[in-house]
Amino acid sequence: MKKILITGVAGFLGSHLADRFLKEGFEVIGMDNLLTGNMENISHLMPLKEFDFHHYDVTKFVHVSGNLDYILHFASPASPIDYLKMPIQTLKVGALGTHNLLGLAKEKSARILVASTSEVYGDPLEHPQKETYWGNVNPVGPRGVYDEAKRFMEAITMAYNNFHNVETRIVRIFNTYGPRMRMDDGRALPTFFSQAMKGEDITVFGDGSQTRSFCYVDDLVEGIYRLLLSDHHEPVNVGNPHEITINQAAEEVIKLTGSNSKIIHTALPKDDPKVRQPDITKAKTILGWEPKISREEGLKRTYEYFKTKV
Ligand code: UDP
Repeated sequence: MKKILITGVAGFLGSHLADRFLKEGFEVIGMDNLLTGNMENISHLMPLKEFDFHHYDVTKFVHVSGNLDYILHFASPASPIDYLKMPIQTLKVGALGTHNLLGLAKEKSARILVASTSEVYGDPLEHPQKETYWGNVNPVGPRGVYDEAKRFMEAITMAYNNFHNVETRIVRIFNTYGPRMRMDDGRALPTFFSQAMKGEDITVFGDGSQTRSFCYVDDLVEGIYRLLLSDHHEPVNVGNPHEITINQAAEEVIKLTGSNSKIIHTALPKDDPKVRQPDITKAKTILGWEPKISREEGLKRTYEYFKTKV
């Protein structure tokens, strides 16, 4: 039985990845310091003998006994309000945490996949974003703590690949949504659902003409699964290229929930990227992957989940 370590396992993506790898017959060790993770996301896994949970902070030396085949490093605060509240932890888990896990991968001869982000492209001057684009990031702006931690993550991961011959994979994740997102994580979709379901005003930041491209979580997990098992060590975008404005996202949530909420426009946060859309040619070519779940279907499933939370 193959053994995989997943960091950030109690988070949105980590918990879905744990589900998937358990389903594929892996033994899963999950780590989380529960800074932004939630045990509810993995409570259904706790009784399984193939699943082992460690309440642990991976910015400290990480030890796992016995053999280990794979590592997925998904621990990090990941929404703008979270990393604004926890800037140092965000930098540490992306930098020191990644270093520790690369060291563990080297020690165990394990393959490691790290969760990078479209934020490495910053406020992009190339659109859509291809993996070859170097980005437009403000290192000292409010998002710098996340963006630069992830850029360092990519750099040290490539260095371990080149210098120590560790088998590495880098996924650049674009906006993802679905069940188990925290309703209060401050991101656009959970916030809009929460507001619409409570009949509160929908807060669109700025004029709402900024764009994002939202990928349903199951599609993302499939892309990550394929990338881990591929032999490609350079970064790969995984996201849904269907781009919409934030105004459109707000309207879709209002329509789906049948809410009477009105859209109001508030200040645009500093350095908020104006556009974002993945070019997924590489994922299509190398992984034979593309998203399958429409936004209509994905939003419906997400709404069903949020209904159980309000
Ligand atoms: N946004 C918004 N209202 C909110 C939360 C977010 O208009 O209550 C906007 C935000 O300014 C950004 C977009 O929605 O332009 C996506 O924000 P999110 O925090 O979901 O993720 P980001 O892609 O910015 O990391």
